[in-house]
Amino acid sequence: MLQHDVELKKFDLHTNDVLKRDFYKDRVVEACPICGSTWHIKYGFYNGIQRYKCKVCDKTFSRATNSLWSYSKKNTRTWMEFTELMTENKTLKFCAEKLKISIGTAFYWRHKILQALSRDVTPDSLSGVVHVGKVIIKENLKGCRNAEIIASATPREDIWVIGAKGQEDSMFVKPIFKHWWNRSAFDEKVYSRIEEKSYIAPYGDRYIKSVAIRHNRNKSIKVEVEYRIKYLWPNLKKWLSIFHGVASKYLQRYLSFFIIMNLDKVIDYMDLIYEKLFKGNRFIRTDEIRIANSLF
Ligand SMILES: [Zn+2]
Repeated sequence: MLQHDVELKKFDLHTNDVLKRDFYKDRVVEACPICGSTWHIKYGFYNGIQRYKCKVCDKTFSRATNSLWSYSKKNTRTWMEFTELMTENKTLKFCAEKLKISIGTAFYWRHKILQALSRDVTPDSLSGVVHVGKVIIKENLKGCRNAEIIASATPREDIWVIGAKGQEDSMFVKPIFKHWWNRSAFDEKVYSRIEEKSYIAPYGDRYIKSVAIRHNRNKSIKVEVEYRIKYLWPNLKKWLSIFHGVASKYLQRYLSFFIIMNLDKVIDYMDLIYEKLFKGNRFIRTDEIRIANSLF
């Protein structure tokens, strides 16, 4: 029995190494993650992963530096299971208990994944029939150091999240402005992405409706309902409630994840990890993710 466990552990460690090596085989390192210089030389291998030495600051780094794995002592399999649980909308507490990791680690991992995903989800332009709607979310100061002071001094503001879906595979869901309707912010961040020849189908907001009327120039076509925009509010509300309230400063990241989970194509969680998180040439900065105790 004991022997069996030892073998299994060995197998796990081996799988971990092989997976890591495979993931990093094609990862391109362009610049030194410490000083940013692009002048470096190959500097041997460590655990089968190519290392480099920077000719400017003399520090060594590898294809794994600054990737999701680089500071993690946990094994690859745990990471994958975590990502899978995340795509199943499990709570941090559930993930932590199931994978025997701390809640702090689970929180940190979730943010690393969200941050990596948030890079290129949003389409650059929207064309065809472009469905546009809005959701107003109350500002959430969770995790903000001065939350109590701010909360007592000023009421929480309304954040306008605009959702738009054209004929593209992806969709647009972003917080655009606070407080009141802001036409210039809307034009700059949303309308500028909508192609001139497209037709705007507005959903339940008089301001968006007025934008649509002007854009469509009295043209009227029969439009099929886009349920992801029509039901953006209940869907988003339900989605955010899974996370027990999302701090506004992290809202964008969660919205990127929301977009991915709402696309037509079925995303295999392995593809998600492999293509989006590990294989790409993405240096994920860890300094932006601060873990505040008040978050739990
Ligand atoms: Zn350097």
